[in-house]
Amino acid sequence: MKVLKFGGTSVGSAARIKDVARLITGDTYAGQRNIVVLSAMAGTTNTLVQICDYLYKHNPAGAQETANALESKYRDVIAELFDTAGSGGTRRGAMVNAAAAAARQAATESVSRCFAYIRSLMGVDFTDTDEKEILAQGELMSTALMNNYLNLTGTRSVLLSALKFMRTDENGEPDMKYISVRLKRLIDMNPDAEIYLTQGFICRNEYGDVDNLQRGGSDYTASIIGAALELEEIQIWTDIDGMHNNDPRYVEGTRPVSELHFEEASELAYFGAKILHPACVLPARLHNIPIRLLNTMEPQKPGTLICNTPPTRSIKAVSAKDNITAIHIKSGRMFRSYSFLNKVFETFERHCTPIDMIATSEVGVTVTIDNDGRLEQIVDDLMAFGTVNVDRKMAIVCVVGDMDWHNGGFAGRAVDALGDLPVRMISYGGSNYNIAMVVSADDKIEALRRLSANLFN
Ligand code: ASP
Ligand code: MG
Repeated sequence: MKVLKFGGTSVGSAARIKDVARLITGDTYAGQRNIVVLSAMAGTTNTLVQICDYLYKHNPAGAQETANALESKYRDVIAELFDTAGSGGTRRGAMVNAAAAAARQAATESVSRCFAYIRSLMGVDFTDTDEKEILAQGELMSTALMNNYLNLTGTRSVLLSALKFMRTDENGEPDMKYISVRLKRLIDMNPDAEIYLTQGFICRNEYGDVDNLQRGGSDYTASIIGAALELEEIQIWTDIDGMHNNDPRYVEGTRPVSELHFEEASELAYFGAKILHPACVLPARLHNIPIRLLNTMEPQKPGTLICNTPPTRSIKAVSAKDNITAIHIKSGRMFRSYSFLNKVFETFERHCTPIDMIATSEVGVTVTIDNDGRLEQIVDDLMAFGTVNVDRKMAIVCVVGDMDWHNGGFAGRAVDALGDLPVRMISYGGSNYNIAMVVSADDKIEALRRLSANLFN
């Protein structure tokens, strides 16, 4: 058994939903009884976020209008998915039409229920619990559409509601024991199913309220399921043929990397490679379940395999993370002091702001953050310990591979590749898999190009 996750663009239209249905019922998967995780159709979650924004701002009319437009989009998708026209006047044609009409009716009812629910929250004093309920509707709708379509086309799929097994604990972490027991039970209750369909992204929290695994969290759902059931493989299907060795939006001639170690994939996902949610690698790594990244548009391509690869002693890829702020704190008192760094870190902890990178010297430290929501307060507090300087509009470019320090030369090659581009800070040694360098955001694309030119060509 495998778990296959399809992202928003993979199910972004009636035609795409049909393609995915064909793919998961094709010869490759014959007799496998896989679990299929779906995201909401592309654009839906963003639109649901917009509806919530209107409701927070006490503008139910705006919310209503946005919901109406989204609902009519779904009606068009349903009409195309369950097309009842053109089967001719034969008896078989009439039967096909009747089945399509019934599936269409069922899909319409599911979608209408979701929109009725969204509208029922429009009159209330809107809270973040309501927001989570609204955001959940996207995945509930995409899976309902797919399930009806699969059943219509003769596949025995069952829809397992993620709200019945996907749960987070008091720390917001997946409750693996609960998930595994509940999901196994649901599967056992449906022994005849060929495909188990479920929603990505959505879950319940420790109180049993509807919640989610954060934006882009469907990958995480798939990984949690793969780990909880110790499945053979986690497949993440998107619209690109694997993790590329550089960002194809900025650099020409990038290539998919055929194999990555779990650690390399974590670094890439964290430092900007958009194809995979950063949280997704951990459950797979802990349970040693391989992750395969595949392309829905070109399913025959090999994609990228993420697993416990043997050491390769090579640089595999580079990526970049935007919206970085570097904060430098200089203090005479840091010299031979054992509490200075502690005070600095406590400041960030107090403001719930995670630190990405650190560089230290005897008299100062520079850290980077990617969330500057509390920057002013942080700087205010840090001024008690030393002189503070802030560099905004920075980017982290990050070189990833198996770069154990005993095998000399990696750090030199990475830094050399940037040539005369100004580098604000460098970090290597936090892991064997990553060399990170902070450059001005304006130099990011040039830095990525130079890294590709020098490391891969
Ligand atoms: N639909 C959710 C989002 O857009 C989750 C996902 O697609 O992974 O963030
Ligand atoms: Mg995604």
